Amino acid sequence: MIPFNKPCVVGGEQEAIQEAISRGKLSGNGTFGKWCTDWLEEELPAEKAILTPSCTAALEMTALLTEVGSGDEVIMPSYTFVSTANAYALRGAAIRFVDIDPDTMNVDPAAIEAAVTPRTKAIVVVHYAGVGCDMDAIMEIADAHGLWVVEDAAQGLMSTYKGRALGTIGHLGTFSFHETKNYQCGEGGALIVNDPALVERAEILQEKGTDRSQFVKGMIDKYTWRDLGSSYLLSELNAAYLSVQLKHAETINENRLLTWDRYLDGLEPLEEAGKISLPVVPDGARQNAHMFYIKVSSDAERTELIGWLKEKGVMAVTHYVPLHSAQAGKKFGKFSGGDRWTTTESEKLLRLPLYYGIKQEDVDDVIRYIFNYFQV
Ligand SMILES: *Cc1c(COP(=O)(O)O)cnc(C)c1O
Repeated sequence: MIPFNKPCVVGGEQEAIQEAISRGKLSGNGTFGKWCTDWLEEELPAEKAILTPSCTAALEMTALLTEVGSGDEVIMPSYTFVSTANAYALRGAAIRFVDIDPDTMNVDPAAIEAAVTPRTKAIVVVHYAGVGCDMDAIMEIADAHGLWVVEDAAQGLMSTYKGRALGTIGHLGTFSFHETKNYQCGEGGALIVNDPALVERAEILQEKGTDRSQFVKGMIDKYTWRDLGSSYLLSELNAAYLSVQLKHAETINENRLLTWDRYLDGLEPLEEAGKISLPVVPDGARQNAHMFYIKVSSDAERTELIGWLKEKGVMAVTHYVPLHSAQAGKKFGKFSGGDRWTTTESEKLLRLPLYYGIKQEDVDDVIRYIFNYFQV
């Protein structure tokens, strides 16, 4: 059996959690939490990092911070996870889904530009598979129209675009530490605040809308309700686990890249034979091997290949069903411009097993089974 994913345990997580318990403080923004936000602020680097219960929560914070609401439009790819859209639909905004570039499955800047109206308030980009979007073009469009840019970098920690960390280029960025992501703690996330003007409000939002973080720092003598907010804190138990993963981020990254490169090298002859297509990493993007996917010729072929691999004990999986085609997607938004690639490409995409520590023999087996399927 080769599962699609296995949670990453790099070693030392249990001890860190034990240490958190021994210290006797388990709520958010404790010693381990501080260690993680310091790591993010130094390593990315970033103006301000805030640990959240999930990337979903961090995305909700971005919608609150940008004050997007009813009557406003938000542009994002249809090819993304539901949380990207939910965060803004929850605020009453209208979602404008746009097309992607089939090479990367990332949002197409030209489609964004064409979707801008006087009501547009924000652009939310998604760095699919941890491969950076064309941020220069996106920031240029945003600047020209005075729009917020939020990077859903859920999959993108340790990736860069022209030398800059994903999540640090727009006004706000978000990461996920869900067990399916490269660096994890079960459930968890982070908000990256790149616009210094948003830092104070971000801290208030995280603390249920109070200025408690200023109180903790001794800046004020009592804390009060200042703004909208929620409980957007990550437990110290999760932060303890996460701290170990971040400490070994380079090791995890290298291990994943090794697997990714092995898939790419191994499957290249199938691309040359015209059977599949392989992911493209554009110049200027350094990726983190979050995902290895292939594209086959049709949805039907994909279903057949999934079944074939499953018989051999290999779990390969599809990915997003475009949001504009879903029940809630139709209710809260609509596709803007032509759907030239989103639907067709999403139906061809198949993700292969990739996790920290996957055996290279297993990777070779997966490659071999795919060759067998195509009788090459
Ligand atoms: C995983 C993911 C999310 C959600 O992350 P959670 O931490 O599970 O909330 C959001 N957006 C994208 C693009 C993701 O891949």
